[in-house]
Amino acid sequence: AKREGRNIIKVFEPVMLYSRQLRSQMATELRDAISSDQLVLHYQPVVELATNRILGVEVLVRWQHPLRGLIPPDTFIPLAEEIGVIHDLDRWVMSASLRQLAAWRKDLPLDDDFQLRVNLSAVELKQLDLVDHIRGLLRELDVPAHSLVVEITETAIVTRGEVEMYSLLSLKQLGVGIEIDDFGTGYSSISYLRELPVSMVKVDRSLLVELNTRTGQLDFVAAILQLIRAAGLEAVFEGIETREQADQLRAMGCASGQGYYFSRPMPADEATALLATTRHL
Ligand code: C2E
Ligand code: CA
Ligand code: CA
Ligand code: CA
Repeated sequence: AKREGRNIIKVFEPVMLYSRQLRSQMATELRDAISSDQLVLHYQPVVELATNRILGVEVLVRWQHPLRGLIPPDTFIPLAEEIGVIHDLDRWVMSASLRQLAAWRKDLPLDDDFQLRVNLSAVELKQLDLVDHIRGLLRELDVPAHSLVVEITETAIVTRGEVEMYSLLSLKQLGVGIEIDDFGTGYSSISYLRELPVSMVKVDRSLLVELNTRTGQLDFVAAILQLIRAAGLEAVFEGIETREQADQLRAMGCASGQGYYFSRPMPADEATALLATTRHL
């Protein structure tokens, strides 16, 4: 009872009150942000490590707030999940980024295997009409399914609910690439790697942070790469920040990666300018 009492008092602390107000204000603003064009998409190249060729881009959403400036997704995606607008947000991102890809395919000399990688929240995988929605967009925009990869977190994928499995299998059948995102941060079982209809695994950048400072980390990362390949999947490493890291991953036989060393995420006009002139970073 004492504990409960403390919690109740906590709610009325001025700081909490302020942050609750701010949160509810941001929730209202976020609902409007989607319809009033305040969400913007940035794009970060993914490269083939052997050649530094650009294999595609990952789509990363930001919120261009009229007063607060550019807000990073880690701040508002959890809020969007909490207040139930993540569905609208993810659909907006999918549609807007596929439109961008269609425009690039029309105007630029993109490689045939160029892939757009879109993050999907756990909630989205539970929507029965997700696959129809994606199929419709691809058809409307004349984009082949293999040009799209969806990135889904480990935690969202391992629950293996019926609808989730249906979504994954139908996406695979459609020809859309499926990637496990944030690998190494969530669930601890690894057997699911061989059981799910996925084709790629993106190793979380937290695993690279100590690559050259912590004893054994290089061997540890090499073992993870072996594990992913033994499961018959393709590994992508994110958060490559130095040339040394890129060299080490390449030497291990890792095929592809992304990170500040190659390029930061950039707004559409910069990405367009880059892709128009550059095939290798
Ligand atoms: P994520 O999918 O793991 O995305 C990678 C994050 O690492 C991005 O942060 C990216 O900017 C950052 N990053 C890339 N290279 C480097 C590097 O070399 N060093 C460091 N320190 N960071 C690097 P960002 O853009 O802030 O996105 C954060 C998270 O927000 C994403 O993590 C993803 O979970 C979520 N997110 C972003 N866009 C979307 C979206 O459209 N829909 C959904 N559902 N989630 C999104
Ligand atoms: Ca991702
Ligand atoms: Ca990550
Ligand atoms: Ca993430």
